[in-house]
Amino acid sequence: MDIAIAGAGIAGLAAASLLRRHGHGVVLYDQLDKPAPIGSGLIIQPTGQAVLSAFGLGEALARRGARIDRLFGRAARSGRIVLDVGFGDGACGIGVHRAALFELLFSEALDAGAEFEPAHEVVGAHVGKSAALEFSDGRRSPGFDLIVDALGLHSPLVERENAYLDYGALWANIPLTEDMALTPNTLEQRYVDAHKTAGVMPIGSIADGPPLAAFFWSLRRDRFAQWQTDGLDAWRGEVLALWPALEAHLAVIQSPEELVFAHYAHHTIRDPVKDRLVHVGDSWHAASPQLGQGANMALLDAYALAQSLDQTMDIDAALGAYKALRQRHVWLYQTISQLFTPFYQSDSKLLPWLRDTIATPAAQLPPIAAVLSSMVAGTLGAPLRRLGLAG
Ligand SMILES: Cc1cc2nc3c(=O)[nH]c(=O)nc-3n(C[C@H](O)[C@H](O)[C@H](O)COP(=O)(O)OP(=O)(O)OC[C@H]3O[C@@H](n4cnc5c(N)ncnc54)[C@H](O)[C@@H]3O)c2cc1C
Repeated sequence: MDIAIAGAGIAGLAAASLLRRHGHGVVLYDQLDKPAPIGSGLIIQPTGQAVLSAFGLGEALARRGARIDRLFGRAARSGRIVLDVGFGDGACGIGVHRAALFELLFSEALDAGAEFEPAHEVVGAHVGKSAALEFSDGRRSPGFDLIVDALGLHSPLVERENAYLDYGALWANIPLTEDMALTPNTLEQRYVDAHKTAGVMPIGSIADGPPLAAFFWSLRRDRFAQWQTDGLDAWRGEVLALWPALEAHLAVIQSPEELVFAHYAHHTIRDPVKDRLVHVGDSWHAASPQLGQGANMALLDAYALAQSLDQTMDIDAALGAYKALRQRHVWLYQTISQLFTPFYQSDSKLLPWLRDTIATPAAQLPPIAAVLSSMVAGTLGAPLRRLGLAG
């Protein structure tokens, strides 16, 4: 088939490699002049690792990223442990800089023979027996057998209002050094109830540079303007009151522009397939990054789509199979993400109290600990088994 992929993010690049390697003609369109990832770092969970290993990128990812064995958090004032979840069974997450992951996926897509068309802002699609993309300059793509929408949260090919969550986060890259007194191989956080969170996540390095960490600071969207007015020193003081050991590391942040403010929305469209248009990644399902699953879900979608199109020449049947392979896992994680987020990012006093006094002790009980490990790994609902990727 001739397939257009709209969006050269994680889902689009993975789909381009996989579909091309399965023998399809692939043209990848993105709005950017030069493809580039936006933001800091993310965790590739065992689910995403299984997909990347399936196309030979597992070792390269492990080399560039940083192993993460545990998610650990303390209440800043009491010092009490309020989050402690490991991956179990020798599994781990891999923290990686977005640029490193992007570079791996982009060169893999080009090596596989995908064509790349930069500077094409998609504004719509004409979908009938064949399908074409419409661009902001009035041009239209040639006809394709299928359009894959990998345009992310703001896809113009999805009809919806994005209802942003009240809280977003500021992100920056900081050097990762031993004097930070962090637990090794750990994503570590400090909280004040659920309205203040600081986190540090090891993300390996880029271009053979020194080890880095992604630093994030939870912030209400409606306080962002005030944060800009207050200035960096006031903000640094607030963070260091929670986490004094970060002083030298936050000192490397010299201007507000070094912090990227990301805001989030929860949304899931009911049906990821419409005629010759199929949605993958955040265009189908976006969530706050509390559970760290978005990139991994995008990789699973791309793998499921390539596998489904490989199994039959009947496009409708193949797209039906794609939906069946992924929708249960998508539903499960979108629901969990929606339930969990306010325990870690909200103005509620009750939810963090429940988190600290009931949920955290309960989470140490072996059966609950095992479920939480699986939840963090992305493997609840057995998505890998459904794709034939389980070890
Ligand atoms: C701050 C933050 C932290 C996160 N942390 C994690 C984590 O730890 N683990 C995890 O798994 N996930 C995490 N996520 C979620 C993850 O980043 C997303 O789920 C993932 O990037 C989705 O991939 P995608 O390919 O669907 O969309 P994107 O990565 O958003 O890619 C969309 C692509 O489409 C292009 N595009 C958009 N609109 C147009 C247009 N109109 N025309 C042409 N091109 C267009 C963009 O340039 C981009 O290249 C995080 C997200 C954020 C914001």
